[in-house]
Amino acid sequence: MEYKIQLKKIEHVNHNVIHLVADKPDGYSFTPGQATELAIDKDNYRDKKRPFTFTSLPEDKELEFTIKVYPSHNGVTEQLEKLEVGDTLIIGDAWGAINYKGTGSFIAGGAGVTPFIAILKDLNRKGQLEGNKLFFSNKEERDIIYKNNLEEWLDKDLHVTLSDENHKDYNHGYINSAYLKSHNLEVSKPVYLCGPPPMMEAVKSDLYKMGLPKSRLIEEAE
Ligand SMILES: Cc1cc2nc3c(=O)[nH]c(=O)nc-3n(C[C@H](O)[C@H](O)[C@H](O)COP(=O)(O)OP(=O)(O)OC[C@H]3O[C@@H](n4cnc5c(N)ncnc54)[C@H](O)[C@@H]3O)c2cc1C
Repeated sequence: MEYKIQLKKIEHVNHNVIHLVADKPDGYSFTPGQATELAIDKDNYRDKKRPFTFTSLPEDKELEFTIKVYPSHNGVTEQLEKLEVGDTLIIGDAWGAINYKGTGSFIAGGAGVTPFIAILKDLNRKGQLEGNKLFFSNKEERDIIYKNNLEEWLDKDLHVTLSDENHKDYNHGYINSAYLKSHNLEVSKPVYLCGPPPMMEAVKSDLYKMGLPKSRLIEEAE
């Protein structure tokens, strides 16, 4: 199915990430962590569908997306940043591999945190966040999206790593097995992983070496 939805709000979350709010079609359903194919309803863009994750919850009245803009791609995200309230988007049905399968560790790189935003927001609303951890990797502090929400939801269970900035408040470098072990990642519980493919490959290899069975890894590349 295809649905046309009208943009009701567009704002920057940080220097290169935008937050879109749009109408939700009647009866539209998804589970927290799922995505949809989205296109801009303008000439030359209707067939350029790109996957984006809902950062709103199924029971919310509107659909929300949180989107990292890549001006160098000369692609859809660059155009999304230029949209105005009242413009129309085209979305398909919801799909995606990530859904909550119980208390565990979430590992995200950059905009790969979006499915976990939805899942953690959902758990927070239900009062079921206890025991979950988020390992969140970014290049610099200014890239960390929804930092205040994440700190409020997770408190000491939020572990931020910066790869390109040495900052006193955060781990510096890449997420690796020594770091995950020292922060008590439990391989006996589900591990949720989403980020750019090179990060996913490196972290996956570390997780398997730590003894995580493939069946307990819930993953999607962004
Ligand atoms: C299931 C899923 C869910 C996702 N959810 C989100 C989300 O919630 N938020 C989010 O921000 N992202 C999300 N993504 C990632 C998102 O889909 C991509 O960032 C988006 O498709 C990029 O679209 P684009 O048209 O701007 O660029 P692209 O489609 O990547 O590129 C357009 C063109 O630019 C060129 N190009 C590609 N890479 C480069 C490069 N490195 N340098 C220069 N030129 C290049 C190519 O010629 C390409 O045809 C998700 C991805 C998946 C698979």
